[in-house]
Amino acid sequence: MDYQKILEDIYQEILPFANKGEQASYIPALAKVNPNQFGIALTTTSGETYSYLQAQTRFSIQSISKVFALAMALSLDGEDLWKIVGKEPSGTAFNSLVQLEVEKGKPRNPFINAGAIVIADRLMTLLPDPDKEFLGFIHALSGTESIDYNLEVAESEREYGYLNAAIANLLKYHGRIENNIEDVLMFYYRMCSVEMNCIELAQAFLAFTNHQHFDFGGYKLSSSKIKRLNAVMQTCGFYDEAGEFSYLVGLPGKSGVGGGIVAVHPLHYSVAVWSPRLNSKGNSVMGMKALELLTTYTEESIF
Ligand code: GLU
Repeated sequence: MDYQKILEDIYQEILPFANKGEQASYIPALAKVNPNQFGIALTTTSGETYSYLQAQTRFSIQSISKVFALAMALSLDGEDLWKIVGKEPSGTAFNSLVQLEVEKGKPRNPFINAGAIVIADRLMTLLPDPDKEFLGFIHALSGTESIDYNLEVAESEREYGYLNAAIANLLKYHGRIENNIEDVLMFYYRMCSVEMNCIELAQAFLAFTNHQHFDFGGYKLSSSKIKRLNAVMQTCGFYDEAGEFSYLVGLPGKSGVGGGIVAVHPLHYSVAVWSPRLNSKGNSVMGMKALELLTTYTEESIF
């Protein structure tokens, strides 16, 4: 398969969408990013990496961080984790409060904000230095030590994070959070603020394509856990557009409001794409199109 040519052809085809959508502005620090950027990188399980355009420009991974946090919590808690967070698609926006109130504070899944905040709390309870552990895990997965938090973005999100604060308060009210709310939110914002580029993200997610040896930074997952983590990405990775992504792309994946999307073709490749302009559901317009064309051109998906 000539992946390089496919990535380049895809870009030409999605150019008409280059000005569609807006970058996230509810986090003021993200509004400063030049929206007219695009990068893509694909890494195969045999170790080749193909990339195009701004694949080396780091951006805010935002909700993509929720996959790393889930992997750590699953490794530490095993199946018990599902007692504190569900694994059903929410069909609502990433920061929705509606279900949470009705369901007495048990978040639908780990990839909506409420679920990730509960997981952040759990990691704070279990780990003596969660900030260091979280970065260390990403360093181990990506093989890149220079990846770091962007504290300006984290602080900007804290300052305007009214909805997340409401979610955390509701969770605390229902006894779903053990630690101090402010500390949990700040850790959650730092996780979201991590900056990586497409090549680093594709490399980090390669670990989720392999069902055999997951052992990174001291966190181990069995092949069955990796399959399940992919199942949660498949059903819950795209806010209330998970069905659409599944239908159009057919791969497990996760998006973030920084404009990044990562997807995994188990036993074949991982792919990361980035373009800051988002659709109304919070997913990258060009990123969604690029991945749809990738599985169309390669005539492969998990289905
Ligand atoms: N930090 C963002 C928030 O909590 C993450 C949203 C996202 O990427 O889905 O609003």
